[in-house]
Amino acid sequence: MLTIIPQFIIGATDLTAAFLFMYGLKRMSSPVTAPSGIMVAGVGMLVAVLASFLYAFDIGASAKPHLLVNLGLAIIALVIGGGVAWWSGKKVAMTSMPQMVAIYNGMGGGAAGAIAAVELFGNKADGVTQLAVTLIGALIGAVSLSGSLIAWAKLDGVIKKPLRIRGQQAFNGLVAIVTLGVGGYIVFVTRSGATPLIPMPDLIYLFFGCALAFGVLMTLPIGGADMPVVISIYNAFTGLAVGLEGFVLQNPALMIAGMVVGAAGMLLTLLMAKAMNRSVNNILFTNFGVATKHKQGDIKGSLKPVEAGDAGIFMRYASSVIIVPGYGLAVAQGQQKLYEFVKLLQAAGVSVKFAVHPVAGRMPGQMDVLLAEAGVPYDLIFQLEDINDDFANTDVALVIGANDVVNPAARTDKASPIFGMPILNADKAKKVYVVKRGQGKGYAGIVNALFYGDNCNMVYGDAAAVLTKMIEAVRALGTKAAA
Ligand code: NAP
Repeated sequence: MLTIIPQFIIGATDLTAAFLFMYGLKRMSSPVTAPSGIMVAGVGMLVAVLASFLYAFDIGASAKPHLLVNLGLAIIALVIGGGVAWWSGKKVAMTSMPQMVAIYNGMGGGAAGAIAAVELFGNKADGVTQLAVTLIGALIGAVSLSGSLIAWAKLDGVIKKPLRIRGQQAFNGLVAIVTLGVGGYIVFVTRSGATPLIPMPDLIYLFFGCALAFGVLMTLPIGGADMPVVISIYNAFTGLAVGLEGFVLQNPALMIAGMVVGAAGMLLTLLMAKAMNRSVNNILFTNFGVATKHKQGDIKGSLKPVEAGDAGIFMRYASSVIIVPGYGLAVAQGQQKLYEFVKLLQAAGVSVKFAVHPVAGRMPGQMDVLLAEAGVPYDLIFQLEDINDDFANTDVALVIGANDVVNPAARTDKASPIFGMPILNADKAKKVYVVKRGQGKGYAGIVNALFYGDNCNMVYGDAAAVLTKMIEAVRALGTKAAA
């Protein structure tokens, strides 16, 4: 063996990367420390990549002639991949983040699958256990790749509707059984020594083909709106696949990174499912929001529109306002205008707080990021459990681009698809203003009784445009007073 780099240096580098991943992840648990957490985890990834290069110098003499070529290829791949990631990360809009996460996640699964393919076609597996682990990693990585690409296409509107056929689940089950059967057969035949792996490339192609098809088939029937949870599941899959391939390559940095990503993805999936009061099974196998008993006639009251300026002036003379931001605020990119309006209210002595629901928007933490982007101080932002009791003592709840997260049906209507989901108690405020463009439903596709309440007025329009009018109206008051 040609060993230029002492093993303990490689080990220490891997350990440093692992520490940075975990410390970074811990910092990501609060919006205050999250930006630095992302930086720390990024440095961890850089250290892990450097560690992989150190492995290149710890190789057998037979591989030495390829060393320079392989290093050159790896550097070219890093420059291209890093460049594309830098460019796309800079230009992506906040509302397109889920798509970007889907693509990057798919790439991770694909990379794990590619490592497995190199191992399988190169017949490198050292024993049955390693072969089985390689195949499991290949299966999960390939499912994650094709499934994430379908998730991207749905989120981006390339695929507009869930594609469901009769007997879909049975057919998907059949494809899964064939995939597992081919994988099992490869392990069995290799174990019995009857056939070395190299003469079985056709079976390996079939295995990958079935696994990729399974990812596509599993994701096609799921509704576009459930894609954030699906991406989170695929994120867990990717982590698992990377961890398994790390085991195959005996690369601790890959193993640890894979386990951290896998565990984080699974926890996130469970948290999202819990915040929506749904099970992961229900998300994967049910047509959410399609069937609902609700008809507009079931709800008493009427929609009462008011002008944006009048609502703005009313809030200017209130003593307390709680703002509930939702998906529509991100669509309108109205966060800067919102904070400008808040500063005007504060200058007039109004107490203003933000109430953030754990699944407001389309990505966990999307509202926190949006408000942070506008420079809203963290001490104005409250999570559901910390603010829900305050609504009853608040003059105005300003619901801006939010819908499902303030739908009282979640408390009372057992037939509602969101029954049991914890909601923000906006309806308990003395006065409620709801800013939205029209009669559009929320993600769950149901009518919201809050909008018809006696204490509620609708302010129709794009959130950014409405806020501009509110700001103008409040400013005009100041000008009149001065004149
Ligand atoms: P929502 O229920 O989807 O409602 C958003 C509302 O914003 C719509 O009713 C829409 O009405 C309005 N809107 C859209 N564009 C607008 C614009 N430019 N200006 C003003 N209003 C606009 O949103 P939410 O209350 O934030 O709830 C999030 C939902 O997503 C929950 O059901 C949650 O379970 C689900 N979900 C969240 C996540 C997550 O991780 N955050 C993941 C998966 C699912 P108009 O069309 O009439 O304007």
